[in-house]
Amino acid sequence: MTRTSSFNVDPARLDGVVDEPLFKSVAEEAAKQGIPAFAIGGYVRDRLIGRPCKDIDFVVEGDGIAFAQAVAKRLKAEPVHVFKNFGTAMFMLGDVQVEFVGARKESYSRHSRKPEVEPGTIKDDQERRDFTINALAISLNAGSLGALVDPFGGILHLDQGLIRTPLDPDITFSDDPLRMLRAIRFANQLGFTIDPVTFEAIQRNAKRLEIISAERIHTELNKIILTPKPSTGFILLRESGLLQEFFPEFVELSGAEEKHGMGHKDNFYHTLQVLDNVCEKSDDLWLRWGAILHDIAKPRTKRFEPGHGWTFHGHEDKGARMVPGIFRRLKLPLDEQMKFVQKLVALHLRPIALTKEEVTDSAVRRLLFDAGDDIDALMILCRADITSKNEKKKDRYLRNYELVMQKLKDVEEKDRVRNFQPPITGEDIMRAFAIQPCKLIGDIKTVIKDAILDGDIHNDRAEAWELMKSEGAKLGLALQPGAEHPIG
Ligand code: ATP
Ligand code: MG
Repeated sequence: MTRTSSFNVDPARLDGVVDEPLFKSVAEEAAKQGIPAFAIGGYVRDRLIGRPCKDIDFVVEGDGIAFAQAVAKRLKAEPVHVFKNFGTAMFMLGDVQVEFVGARKESYSRHSRKPEVEPGTIKDDQERRDFTINALAISLNAGSLGALVDPFGGILHLDQGLIRTPLDPDITFSDDPLRMLRAIRFANQLGFTIDPVTFEAIQRNAKRLEIISAERIHTELNKIILTPKPSTGFILLRESGLLQEFFPEFVELSGAEEKHGMGHKDNFYHTLQVLDNVCEKSDDLWLRWGAILHDIAKPRTKRFEPGHGWTFHGHEDKGARMVPGIFRRLKLPLDEQMKFVQKLVALHLRPIALTKEEVTDSAVRRLLFDAGDDIDALMILCRADITSKNEKKKDRYLRNYELVMQKLKDVEEKDRVRNFQPPITGEDIMRAFAIQPCKLIGDIKTVIKDAILDGDIHNDRAEAWELMKSEGAKLGLALQPGAEHPIG
């Protein structure tokens, strides 16, 4: 694996840190109280590689909460939010979140990621960190003011682009299995490589993920999905065995079967290609989820039809039906976001399928009607889904795609069905025929909607009114006197 990070480590980026008001106040307070204090973790890492960071963590060898209160007072940055259970305290300094904790030593039991905690030294605290690059600290103490405290070679690993645990990785991961996902998330976000010894330990401990809550898992997973090229993270997730633990349906996409000399593409890699393609066009997490799930039912709908080849009939509908189960298990939101993802999965074949026949206005109107405001997202997914290696095929698909885009534009301008509001409401129908709510009303509305989508009448109240009248007559309904004038 090669390093794809665009970050350079520069220790000079720490120059002047102790002259900045926050760090200066911490150093002064540390001197006053006579207890060692350090900036630590993600902030130090990010500063060294010149990556923006809006949260700064400090560790003191003493009472972190009392220390936070004293520093906040110096900086007039109150109020301080205290989290007694965690022994931490936090305040905001402008838009920067500043957090303090007392240095601690931890011991874990096998069944929980909640450790027994006792006060410790900075070294103890650095040891319980997940990776050497996250264990870097800056001293804010007289005699070593501004110096890097790096007992595990974190700066070297930062320079080499290496993710490695400070202790035996089997211990680090078994203590808190969430760290395995964090390893992959950092590798993906920073373009780093996971040290082979560390990676093998992830493979050995993957099953331990079972003690981690779905919320924590999806938080890390979503961070991977939000990187510019999430395929890298997903490949590591699969190779490590972690993906199987929380998302086996995705692992099932792997592999390309062959029968009578006919193969199909490996849908795991195809899906990742589609995902990366979508990521070039959109930062929307849920559109990215749409890409992840668009072919999820392919393994379950796969058939070999002699003389024809592999088919995946109905994978879009079955896939849409699989979405709620997957979202529920991962504790992802079950409201609009899920419905949006379901819609993308259900409709993902429609735009290109349109061009298999000639592109009729009525088919385009139906697509606009079904997709509504999500048509743009659907078209991004649909274009991303064109991954054929056969250049001729790809060109043809891309031309078809352009054709559909143009048609969508023309039809929407003309008929405005994207957010279709029926020109005749149920109320109108009840009043016109003096009837109570019943199934007939829905039937008449459907006839009107279909007539508009099929282009038999315009999306227009007067034309729809005439159609309602004739449909009512067919059903034996009598128009009420005075119900003749639809407008106004
Ligand atoms: P980011 O803020 O980009 O998610 P980060 O490294 O700052 O990255 P945080 O979750 O903010 O991550 O945690 C801050 C620091 O706390 C980390 O740098 C690391 O030292 C430590 N840390 C966080 N989570 C864990 C964990 N599960 N195990 C060990 N150390 C951790
Ligand atoms: Mg952080």
